[in-house]
Amino acid sequence: MRIDLHTHSRFSDGTDTPTTLVMKALAADLDVIALTDHDTFSGVAEAQEAGRRIGLKVIGGVEMSTEHAGASVHLLGYGCDPYDRELNAELTRIRFGRSNRLPAMVQKLTDAGLALTLDEVLAAANGAPAIGRPHVADAMVAKGYVADREQAFSEWIGEDRPAFVPRYACELERAIDLIHSARGVAVLAHPWGRGGDAVLNAPYIEALVRHKGLEGIEVDHPDHDDETRSLLFEMGARLGLVRTGSSDYHGTGKKRNPLGANLTRQSALRDLTARIRRRGGIA
Ligand code: AMP
Ligand code: FE
Ligand code: FE
Ligand code: ZN
Repeated sequence: MRIDLHTHSRFSDGTDTPTTLVMKALAADLDVIALTDHDTFSGVAEAQEAGRRIGLKVIGGVEMSTEHAGASVHLLGYGCDPYDRELNAELTRIRFGRSNRLPAMVQKLTDAGLALTLDEVLAAANGAPAIGRPHVADAMVAKGYVADREQAFSEWIGEDRPAFVPRYACELERAIDLIHSARGVAVLAHPWGRGGDAVLNAPYIEALVRHKGLEGIEVDHPDHDDETRSLLFEMGARLGLVRTGSSDYHGTGKKRNPLGANLTRQSALRDLTARIRRRGGIA
């Protein structure tokens, strides 16, 4: 069984439609994927319908934009009711924050000599409900300012770069509660990637497990090196967590994350599915 539990479609900053994503997953010999777009469930129904037609299991998910101690933390929710009122109210607020920061970003780029309009970013986003910096990057590529998303982030829109503008995110512990009230299972995405180990230290993760009901961590992820993976694997075992693996596929938006780049063990999927059922979610 080949299982990849973290992927993105065009409903956020991936580049494939949910249907195309599922077809590519089949071509990559995957048996199970989860669609985990940023801050929206909009692509899940289409992906699951495509999965039913071609015989590939699609678990519904979301990757929530949260923050802890002033730092950005990504939280995966699996098996949630996609129509849950409270969770959707918060996701709407986060998506509003995403769109709301765009005028300031295009202004900064324009002031720096890279003339860009909000309409050009919206054209790049192509109707995506969750608009992100990758769409700003795509608009910059379209204007010929940078070669790819990677260059846009490293020179202009990464967190410490001149055209970066912060946005609203949900407090991490409240996000865990919201996933639970929607009957889903909460898993920390790439917890120790890109400096995440400073904000999500081991004692704090243990506190999230004990007091907030956190149930899993992503272990095998492109942003984790081998040593990080083995440390996370051991910590997750000690805390009784589901330990997942994924590509964090974004289509052509992240060339180093091909579908199936990392996999989830079948026993971990069984554990995750059982936990979703225990919470009353959609397994
Ligand atoms: P935002 O959601 O607007 O905060 O933008 C963050 C998103 O940009 C992440 O979800 C990643 O998918 C993407 N991203 C971050 N760094 C890079 C990079 N260096 N190259 C391409 N995409 C990136
Ligand atoms: Fe992304
Ligand atoms: Fe992420
Ligand atoms: Zn992701």
